[in-house]
Amino acid sequence: MPSYKAPVDDTLFLLNDVLNFQRFGNLPGFADVTPDVMSQILLEAGKLCEEALAPLNQIGDEKGCKRHDDASVSTPPGFKEAHDAFAQGGWISLAVPEEYGGQGLPYTLSMAMNEFASSANMSFAMYPGLTQGALAALLRHGDDEQKKLYVPKMAEGRWSGTMNLTEPQCGTDLGLLTTKATPRGDGSYSITGQKIFISAGEHDLTENIVHLVLARIEGAPAGVKGISLFVVPKFLVDGDGALGPRNGVSCGSIEEKMGIHGNATCVMNYDGAQGFLVGEANRGLNAMFVMMNEARLGVAMQGLAQSEVAYQNAAQYAKERLQGRALSGAKDPGKPADPIIVHPDVRRMLLEMKAFNEAARGFALSAALDSDIAHRSDDAASRQAAEDRLGLLTPVLKGVLTDLGFENTVKAQQVLGGHGYIREWGMEQFVRDARISMIYEGANGIQALDLVGRKLPRDGGRAIMAYFKDTAELLAPLESDEAMKSFAAPVKAALDDLQKATMWLMQNAMAKPDNAGAASYDYMHLFGRVALGVMWVKIAQAAMAIKAQEPERAELMDAKLLTARFYMERMLPETRLRLTRISTGADTMMSLAEEMF
Ligand SMILES: Cc1cc2nc3c(=O)[nH]c(=O)nc-3n(C[C@H](O)[C@H](O)[C@H](O)COP(=O)(O)OP(=O)(O)OC[C@H]3O[C@@H](n4cnc5c(N)ncnc54)[C@H](O)[C@@H]3O)c2cc1C
Repeated sequence: MPSYKAPVDDTLFLLNDVLNFQRFGNLPGFADVTPDVMSQILLEAGKLCEEALAPLNQIGDEKGCKRHDDASVSTPPGFKEAHDAFAQGGWISLAVPEEYGGQGLPYTLSMAMNEFASSANMSFAMYPGLTQGALAALLRHGDDEQKKLYVPKMAEGRWSGTMNLTEPQCGTDLGLLTTKATPRGDGSYSITGQKIFISAGEHDLTENIVHLVLARIEGAPAGVKGISLFVVPKFLVDGDGALGPRNGVSCGSIEEKMGIHGNATCVMNYDGAQGFLVGEANRGLNAMFVMMNEARLGVAMQGLAQSEVAYQNAAQYAKERLQGRALSGAKDPGKPADPIIVHPDVRRMLLEMKAFNEAARGFALSAALDSDIAHRSDDAASRQAAEDRLGLLTPVLKGVLTDLGFENTVKAQQVLGGHGYIREWGMEQFVRDARISMIYEGANGIQALDLVGRKLPRDGGRAIMAYFKDTAELLAPLESDEAMKSFAAPVKAALDDLQKATMWLMQNAMAKPDNAGAASYDYMHLFGRVALGVMWVKIAQAAMAIKAQEPERAELMDAKLLTARFYMERMLPETRLRLTRISTGADTMMSLAEEMF
């Protein structure tokens, strides 16, 4: 059975030493989080994930979820108890405002916990993760009554949340949505239609399930401008929050799928279910975007999380498995063979994973910090800058962390050789589970289009220009710094590639939109390599400072510096390849006649 150890120390290093978390003490909820408190919170989080969630991961995969004849769904053995422990530990309510029964702590800590939970048991972590996303949407767009009714119970983990967008004919293109909302005359609506692929749509973990559903009010405009958001509880709720009769929503079936078997992916039938409008009519996508953006960061974390747990097990295996001799001569002559970690090709795979994991964690946590600043700062300019960065980087995080996260699970499987393909070792489950993260929450091709088509041009390019300026300002003094220049110079070259690619898009995409579409995936990955490179520069800076002041941490910091060097030498140069591809345009891609495919 695979093992998992939450990377608490690395998370603390990133938050305290690299991202200077304590700098944000003026934000609400941050002042109480001293380094000691943070350490205690993360240690507790790690313990729960290691001891309660990880042991259920393979069980969840093997047993899966079961739908019964009465349309109820049971989750795998142990999930209910784990959900209770997760909720009682206050992990769902961590970042929920205190007035709604939450703890008002930074969302950044919630994201750190999300990584640990998703590594330990991705299928399980999706249940509370979806509740948190639904909470965010209700807190932002719900009216006072809705917040009072739903938020405290969801924060407590007694009720859970879902997001219902997808329909059989309507996936990426939400304009095709046909679920209907008919006014009932009392201010509420009757919701009728079918949703498919709804994660956690039905289960036995909570007393009630609060569905957030996109539907079209009768007579509303066609396309995305006619979509509204509704809250549709499984059990209707009276004014005091007591559960009433069963609403007209039920699970028609659950999908048989490649991975995440412990999470129930449901067909949900809405048969005149009573729903309540959230926010303004016909502005539902806007409201749902709060949940979708939160979910995109959560899914980015899933990519990292699967990469981390797969890496941990591969690294352990590589130290124990004896095969062949080191090219430079036997490393362990007393044994029949050397451990496979002596082989450069095995080290290549391990280091590619390690160099991704440690920088991706910093990248994701810095995005979570931006989310905290955007929502909590009392300074309008800081809020705006954080919101711009977050908007720009969310598609990069989602697309790149899940693509590379999945690739890393395959690499980790490769390190185990044939054993990686065999169930009991657990590696093939990581591969299967990680795969969905590239597809849902906007398939990665759609993230790339969002980046190139919406995020770059938005507000006259304000966010990307600020990114270029901030990054250039970070790198400029380091390029002449003896110790730092070997890290700063390659990132500066990669940043130049990103700027050239951006310029190419500006010059070639307006007149010919296919050029933007054809370039978008490479652009997203080029951006991702730069962003991870920037994070490695920051990590290297912190590592050097710590080495100079705290000799007891020097060994660990040397490892950071070597990993940073590996990233610069072996992974960052990919930006040039991506730029070359981008610059070829769309002509060849779009010329082949459809019947030739
Ligand atoms: C396990 C699982 C759980 C899920 N959970 C949920 C959930 O909880 N709630 C929910 O609402 N949905 C959920 N989904 C649905 C998921 O979000 C969709 O599958 C996804 O958004 C893609 O939609 P689709 O499957 O219809 O693919 P399509 O939209 O048909 O896309 C197919 C392919 O075409 C590409 N494509 C489509 N349009 C374009 C375009 N304009 N330009 C370029 N490429 C394009 C896509 O990138 C994709 O590669 C889940 C799906 C699965 C499998």
